Amino acid sequence: MKVSIYKNNSTKSQTIGNILSKLLSRYPDTFVFDDAKPDVVITVGGDGTLLSAFHHYVDQLDHTRFIGVHTGHLGFYADWQEFEIDHLVDSLLTYEGRTISYPLLEMTIQYTDGKKNNFLALNEAAIKQPEGTLVADVYLDGERFERFRGDGLTAATPTGSTAYNKANGGAVMHPSLASIQLSEIASINNRVFRTLGSPLVIGPDETIRVVPLNVDNGVTLTYDHLSQATTDIEWLEFRVAKEKIAFAEHRHTRFWHRVRDSFIGDEVID
Ligand code: NAP
Repeated sequence: MKVSIYKNNSTKSQTIGNILSKLLSRYPDTFVFDDAKPDVVITVGGDGTLLSAFHHYVDQLDHTRFIGVHTGHLGFYADWQEFEIDHLVDSLLTYEGRTISYPLLEMTIQYTDGKKNNFLALNEAAIKQPEGTLVADVYLDGERFERFRGDGLTAATPTGSTAYNKANGGAVMHPSLASIQLSEIASINNRVFRTLGSPLVIGPDETIRVVPLNVDNGVTLTYDHLSQATTDIEWLEFRVAKEKIAFAEHRHTRFWHRVRDSFIGDEVID
């Protein structure tokens, strides 16, 4: 098994990553370190580290499996705690290759000079206007749906629905649903200006196109932790990607357990 350990810069993650590396080195017949073309990427940190690893290996999703070790704040994507790495190594020794896959978002950006770019996102993509109000027409499957005015819009995957999307009042979605959720960031809604005012979810064969109408001040496009500022965008389109992210399923926390652990924890019931 070709393994890469992808860690963030915190002292704790560096230490845990180095210990993990030593533990794996005890089995040279089973584990080979290969950062260029790994079968398994073990991230050590939090969700931010996993997002970063995802984008680092985004061209190798067809053969790469991810495992998250949690040393960060939340660790929504991480199945292993830092004190469990002995157990993680034991379980990798008997790993039979089962995976669990989650949907991704594909974003296409059409620039005014005719160029197009495609990006994949694990959590979400967003369009925001740093200054003033973003005015944008939203099309669903080619038909104009609404004119949006507000701070911005996000399009989230099911696993990303617990991140930015949730802060916008979006629903948490099970990742078995190949879908994308559009949510509004502070829309203007009154007698004069009107949007749907609630998140909407599209299925695998649908598209959402956003055509910003006042880009002269510039808009910011984000995809996960990455962003670009531009004044040269004609439209962007969101859809469920053909590609998926695969996690090693030798021990995988069930989605609703993950949500409960991350957002509710151990409540005290009188
Ligand atoms: P960050 O601002 O350093 O951290 C964002 C927080 O979101 C961290 O606590 C992170 O967990 C957590 N997180 C990431 N993915 C998650 C998921 N799928 N479900 C639940 N929580 C999740 O930014 P970052 O680490 O570079 O991450 C970028 C992400 O930040 C974006 O994809 C976006 O979803 C999120 N974000 C949220 C808001 C908001 O809620 N208002 C605004 C902007 C961006 P860890 O502590 O384990 O890393």
